[in-house]
Amino acid sequence: MALMITDECINCDVCEPECPNDAIYMGEEIYEIDPRKCTECVGHFEEPQCVQVCPVACIPVNPAHVETRETLWERFERLAAAKAASARAAAEDAGGKPSPEAPPPSTAEI
Ligand code: SF4
Ligand code: SF4
Repeated sequence: MALMITDECINCDVCEPECPNDAIYMGEEIYEIDPRKCTECVGHFEEPQCVQVCPVACIPVNPAHVETRETLWERFERLAAAKAASARAAAEDAGGKPSPEAPPPSTAEI
């Protein structure tokens, strides 16, 4: 199941950097969780990290997104594959366009 943040949230900013899936973001008034990215931390940690750090315990299960552990695991694998693909693309981009400030290759050690 994905989790959700209730209106008891005090916008303390603590949970957002703890999410391994970047599922937490600032909404119009309080932080929110994107259910397409939340795996309840399956694949990363034993316990939901946002729940662990929230000082006001305002992160329950989202009743609109009741999911099995298998579904959460599949989501984790999909997100991990997408992240790896985007890191590969970024690395290829960087490799194809050398920085003009990069020093020339050294020949001192040859
Ligand atoms: S349970 Fe884990 S994946 Fe879901 S929002 Fe919290 S920290 Fe992110
Ligand atoms: S840790 Fe809890 S109170 Fe703090 S921003 Fe996240 S949901 Fe809101």
